Amino acid sequence: MPEALPQKHSEAEDGLEQKAAPPPWARFSTLLEDPAHAANPLREPFAELLALYTKQQEKQSKLLCISDGYHDLSRAQNSSLHAQYDRQLRRLQKIARISDRYQHSLHELSSALEEAALTDPLTGLHNRRYLMERLKKETQRSNRKADAFSLAILDVDHFKSINDRFSHEAGDFALCQIATAIQGSIREYDICGRWGGEEFLILLPDTSLTEALQVCERIRHDIAQLHLALLEPMELPHLTASIGLAMQRPEENYSTTLDRADSALHAAKRQGRNRVEFA
Ligand code: GH3
Ligand code: MG
Ligand code: MG
Repeated sequence: MPEALPQKHSEAEDGLEQKAAPPPWARFSTLLEDPAHAANPLREPFAELLALYTKQQEKQSKLLCISDGYHDLSRAQNSSLHAQYDRQLRRLQKIARISDRYQHSLHELSSALEEAALTDPLTGLHNRRYLMERLKKETQRSNRKADAFSLAILDVDHFKSINDRFSHEAGDFALCQIATAIQGSIREYDICGRWGGEEFLILLPDTSLTEALQVCERIRHDIAQLHLALLEPMELPHLTASIGLAMQRPEENYSTTLDRADSALHAAKRQGRNRVEFA
């Protein structure tokens, strides 16, 4: 009677076998090698089956080995990719920070340049370019709203003699003091700037000729009162200024208003200086 094939192991036995080698087929090999079973007709097919099984097991463990290798490799590649990604991310963040700082300083620089382009370097007042832009805007606004502006051109009297008698630096100093005096005499919404040389322009938005005359008289008075203490005890003589004033007429181009103010200035000079004239 051929010996019955060994029963399938229970899970508990499998668990034990996993812990303790030998492999499951070792028991079958022992049975096959036993001379007591040499005549068993199932022995030969059983031996073939066992050989096949053993071969399959070997193949399977090789495949497992390869798969583990791939798995390790892919894990290593993943972690290296992750590290690379982190590095690139940090680099990009740094570049973004530098770019932000660069943009910020560029912005500050361009604002400073813009301001410098519209400022007179000696007196710190608006320059002619700024005044021209404001004149254009003020003309458009007053034409739209029908509230005319007035404008005044101020020229320092006999200024050349200050340079000639003292120095160009003394003249510069006097110009700065006059600029400060004008700035202090105008109203909050009036605009004043250096028109060129020893000439200043004062733009008085939404201002009648009567009101503008009052402002200009105040400026003229304040300049005449200035003490130009250059260096103790050296003091420059009192300076005066002549002012030509014009109020914008309806639909009048600003250059025409400027021409009228200039004519008024010449009239003020002709009539003895240190005075305000209007046209
Ligand atoms: P008037 O009363 O007719 O205006 O006489 P004036 O001497 O003021 O006029 P003039 O046009 O003969 O001379 C203007 C002088 O202003 C000559 C010029 O050297 C001087 N000036 C112009 N710009 C500056 C400046 O930025 N600094 C100094 N120190 N002087 C300047
Ligand atoms: Mg002049
Ligand atoms: Mg002058």
